[in-house]
Amino acid sequence: MSKMKVAIIGYGVSGRAVEKLCDAQGCKSAVFDDNLSPEIPVQEDFAQFDLIVVSPGVPPYSQTYQAAVQSEVELISEMEFGFRHCSSPVIAITGTNGKTTTTELTVALLLALGYDARAVGNIGTPLSEAVAGQGDNTVFVAEVSSFQLEKIVTFKPIAAAVLNIASDHLDRYDNNIQSYAATKFAMLKKVIPEKRVIGISLQNDTDFTTPDHHPVPVVAADGVLLCRDRKLLALDALKLRGPHNTENIIASLQLIAAFAGEDKLFTPALLEALRAFSPGNHRLETIAVKDGVTYINDSKATNPHATLAALRAVSDGKNVRLLLGGLDKGMDFTELIPGMKLVKKAYILGECRETIASALQGEVDLQIYRSFDLAVMSASSEADPGDIVLLSPACASMDMFKNYAERGECFVKKINSLDSWKSRTSKSL
Ligand code: ADP
Repeated sequence: MSKMKVAIIGYGVSGRAVEKLCDAQGCKSAVFDDNLSPEIPVQEDFAQFDLIVVSPGVPPYSQTYQAAVQSEVELISEMEFGFRHCSSPVIAITGTNGKTTTTELTVALLLALGYDARAVGNIGTPLSEAVAGQGDNTVFVAEVSSFQLEKIVTFKPIAAAVLNIASDHLDRYDNNIQSYAATKFAMLKKVIPEKRVIGISLQNDTDFTTPDHHPVPVVAADGVLLCRDRKLLALDALKLRGPHNTENIIASLQLIAAFAGEDKLFTPALLEALRAFSPGNHRLETIAVKDGVTYINDSKATNPHATLAALRAVSDGKNVRLLLGGLDKGMDFTELIPGMKLVKKAYILGECRETIASALQGEVDLQIYRSFDLAVMSASSEADPGDIVLLSPACASMDMFKNYAERGECFVKKINSLDSWKSRTSKSL
């Protein structure tokens, strides 16, 4: 392996990580990135290499990717490359929503059990980079996107979870949810059935045939988390709230049971870590209560499934003023319809505002906005005490913002400046 010549396609976070691991392993490498070089490589440019590693962000239909395929040199993903050099166990987590929350929670629980655990993959540090700089005692918990699952060969986690599957990124899968699902299940099939975790909602989903699995009996019943009828914790003792987070917690506990043994779930330090865990920013974050109106930032909701989860978690009636819209990824916005009974009014913005508005026409009171600020201000000024103003856009953010975090921060800033905004408008009336 050490004398290998590796072609790296894409020189972002993943490509740089592959380069680092090549250096650490003594492999020669060369980078091909269409954004850095005006010359598009052809098939002959790749023929001199022993291996091609492609970054998850490179579209399969791009000329460079196609030239690499035609060269017939073995083509693998960054995650596969990292795995080939990894001597530590890898626990993998994929699904449309909840990956980051479940990955971070699983790491927190493993740390509480005394393991040296580290989150890798989609969450930040690529597996290749972590492998280049880590000892053998680390347990890697990999957040895996479906893009990273394309072009895996030997990648074989010790335990793995598919949390849920809903419409997202279908533009990359010819608008076919079954082929999107197949990519996720392919990973699960690499794991022995005893260590496969299937998310709760998927177990009841008639659209998908899930691979064989032996679920560990962690359940939530009457507000209590149980393992084989023994109480673990009451759900209201936790900071992670809402039915979707209960699903994430159960998946995480099942992974821990599969990896470390079921009896470990009763360890006091693990239960304390579970109680103390709070989700990252921009995920159902209550940012203010002003004049009886609650403002919640859920900018991380980038598909309809996540927005539905948010509505179910926060609303106890038709009291949500929902800020919705952004960049489409080939999603089915009619999936939002069941949630509209919880929505007083939808404030629709972003590039796909017309698509969303026509999917929801007749289902909810709605209005289209061209400006983010105006939509936020309208929702706020129309809100009555007891209402919730929720930013949960069901779309990517890149039409108006750098990323979901910038969108969330912009919302928080607007809410924090509401008092001065309201006093300015009342003076000008
Ligand atoms: P991911 O890494 O898969 O994007 P996150 O944990 O960052 O997942 O959560 C993304 C969004 O999805 C947030 O808005 C969050 O509230 C919502 N979410 C989290 N878990 C679930 C779930 N199990 N089902 C539906 N939505 C979820």
